[in-house]
Amino acid sequence: MKEKTPKKKLQAEKREQAMIEGIIEGSPDAVGVVVVRLECGCRKMAAVSKDGEPASKIIMYRDQATSICEKCKEDNGSFMRIRESFMHWVEPAPSPEKQKEISLKVLGTTTSH
Ligand SMILES: [Zn+2]
Repeated sequence: MKEKTPKKKLQAEKREQAMIEGIIEGSPDAVGVVVVRLECGCRKMAAVSKDGEPASKIIMYRDQATSICEKCKEDNGSFMRIRESFMHWVEPAPSPEKQKEISLKVLGTTTSH
């Protein structure tokens, strides 16, 4: 059974995966991690609880750099500059309905303002 999905599903990259695992380890309440990719290449992540509330502090980092870029230091990774954002679920992932609910709560408020 092969499925062709025209819409590319956003998935964590290897480096992001490592960060995500670290966040989950430090956040026992997390059901997932929100991953935000900024235009400048920096990343923003935070664990999310089953109620769609933050379950950790927001972590910002930049690949192969000791710190985030100047722009992010200035505006703290403004929502205006988000390129992509998605939820990475902790296994076992919540039900599709619950995923939708949490995503909406978490990502819905980050993309609209
Ligand atoms: Zn940046």
